[in-house]
Amino acid sequence: MKGITVLGSTGSIGVSTLDVVARHPDQYRVIALTANSNIDRLFEQCLRFAPQYAVMIDYGLADELRKRLADAGFKKTEVLGGTKALEDVCVLPEVDSVMAAIVGAAGLLPTLAAAKAAKTVLLANKEALVMSGPLFMSAVADSGANLLPIDSEHNAIFQCMPANYHAGVAAPEVRRILLTASGGPFLRKPLDELHDVTPDQAVAHPNWVMGRKISVDSASMMNKGLELIEACLLFNTPPDQVQVVIHPQSVIHSMVDYVDGTVLAQMGNPDMRVPIAHAMAWPTRFDSGVDPLDLFAVKRLDFEAPDLVRFPCLQRAYDAVRAGETMPAILNAANEIAVAAFLDGKIRFTAIPDTISHCMDSVPVNKADSIDAVLLADQAARQAAQAYTNRLN
Ligand code: NAD
Ligand code: MG
Repeated sequence: MKGITVLGSTGSIGVSTLDVVARHPDQYRVIALTANSNIDRLFEQCLRFAPQYAVMIDYGLADELRKRLADAGFKKTEVLGGTKALEDVCVLPEVDSVMAAIVGAAGLLPTLAAAKAAKTVLLANKEALVMSGPLFMSAVADSGANLLPIDSEHNAIFQCMPANYHAGVAAPEVRRILLTASGGPFLRKPLDELHDVTPDQAVAHPNWVMGRKISVDSASMMNKGLELIEACLLFNTPPDQVQVVIHPQSVIHSMVDYVDGTVLAQMGNPDMRVPIAHAMAWPTRFDSGVDPLDLFAVKRLDFEAPDLVRFPCLQRAYDAVRAGETMPAILNAANEIAVAAFLDGKIRFTAIPDTISHCMDSVPVNKADSIDAVLLADQAARQAAQAYTNRLN
């Protein structure tokens, strides 16, 4: 029986994770669940999964959750408040695995705490890895933690890697990683119409149901940019050995090209319970609840090269990974601010790459030799992005 903490349990990945947990009550018990503000969902999850701890970031909401559980006569869960509690519930001795499913930079410190405590880290929160890069990978190597990718592409690559592969290790027999991308909702939209797209159009992904931030990232292809950086780190690969391949059906979730000409692909229905169940059962397998893939319904698989004029965010991610040091943290922070401003109706979709370029060109790049240096770069880029988007308003 393994103990699991689910960071961000009320989100899209969190809910899918608990769906898989519910299918395997003999193998997993929930130690802690955490949420930012969705108290109704966290309350229901506490009643259903009886975690030892529930964390709400806001202390007032934590008090309210405590009261609601007491009123319901439910005494099994202790409610904690504040960001520090996120780290506390990752390092408990009864925790074996931590699902890192908070969105954005807010997930960095608890995910890093889990890695340092040698937990099995199930990594969905790509922003945490992109920001802290080599520091995060060294923490994993130093503690001996298992790092298992949840992002569907990276989970696919992991599955196609040589037997007994561990994240962070270079695989000399691999020639290239083929990182697939759906292209998102705007793959075929006339370029002059991108200016006027609305948040609702941007979050309407053709193949995947996801949280709002990652859905906008998919529409701008910054998601693929973040995933490019994620792949370079997880698989210890230079960026020119990662090729982005547009594959609109999202059936192949990525591929590994070996020196002998073999290309291994991982396929499946576009449902995040596949990579989640893979990582939770690793190194064995168990049921995810996902329907078998029907190739006769899929019929065909198409591929094309990405258009970097249409998707400048992807180009900026290549630039950031090549620059290294605190540049990926600057790119990520600028993107988080720009996406939030777009979702709030304050800036246009096309201002997202402009904001990122502005920050990458103006915020000083420093050595990323400590988490404090990374957090300083994150803060500086947020301020620069905020000032830039305010001016556009
Ligand atoms: P979501 O918005 O649906 O959920 C985010 C979760 O994080 C929620 O539980 C929320 O309460 C919590 N959260 C948000 N802000 C927080 C803060 N400041 N402090 C603490 N908790 C906070 O997002 P999602 O789609 O589930 O994505 C989660 C992560 O997984 C992201 O990093 C995303 O890139 C990655 N990911 C998601 C998918 C997907 O299919 N949804 C696929 C691959 C990777
Ligand atoms: Mg992905």
